[in-house]
Amino acid sequence: MSIAGGAVVLFSGGQDSTTCLGWALERYDRVETIGFDYGQRHRIEMECRLDVLDSIRARFSRWAAKLGEDVVVPVEAIGTLSNTALTRDVEMKMGADGLPNTFVPGRNLIFLSFAAAYAYRRELKHIVTGVCETDYSGYPDCRDDTIKAMQVALNLGLERRFVLETPLMWIDKAQTFVMARELGGEDFLTLVIEETHSCYAGDRTVKFDWGWGCGACPACKLRAEGWHRFVAEGL
Ligand code: ZN
Repeated sequence: MSIAGGAVVLFSGGQDSTTCLGWALERYDRVETIGFDYGQRHRIEMECRLDVLDSIRARFSRWAAKLGEDVVVPVEAIGTLSNTALTRDVEMKMGADGLPNTFVPGRNLIFLSFAAAYAYRRELKHIVTGVCETDYSGYPDCRDDTIKAMQVALNLGLERRFVLETPLMWIDKAQTFVMARELGGEDFLTLVIEETHSCYAGDRTVKFDWGWGCGACPACKLRAEGWHRFVAEGL
């Protein structure tokens, strides 16, 4: 039984947002996707996200019927305004404030605002994002409180009753692999491993058992650790 009202998924082509897309396709009668081009150094994710959408349409017939439009929003201003390791050629490291310099200030707040504007036009009720407080690299805009506050702000500011959904908020990367398998079986888990992109360095030259990446950046480390726990604990 699908939930009416439809959903837009913030979809980057990574492990988390791809799992969220499967989660939404299991639940809602209509699912659309939105991506953001903000001058990220790992621009290869913009190609991967299209490959993931193509694969879902080709290999998951019960989901393909619900999967609707995809839109990419240019938000290069984020890269212009911020000085982070995701948008500039600087080394990834921890800042004095305890935040890694891969944090892009305002990124998720801006993404959610654009997603709500899109949902407003497309008359979609649910806005699904893969933010996570469990292993969230300390990004304050991934916190549950931030998302709840955004839901209030967006509903007041747009005069709607959007529901911001965060299916990964309280689970870790190992459990995200479990969720992918529960949603779409081994075939979807394989899709997540082989076709999604997480690596901040944009590296897809080396294939690990958890997917493609450089194996050294924070995003690769997080994904690798999650996979190894998934395997070691027989999840
Ligand atoms: Zn990497």
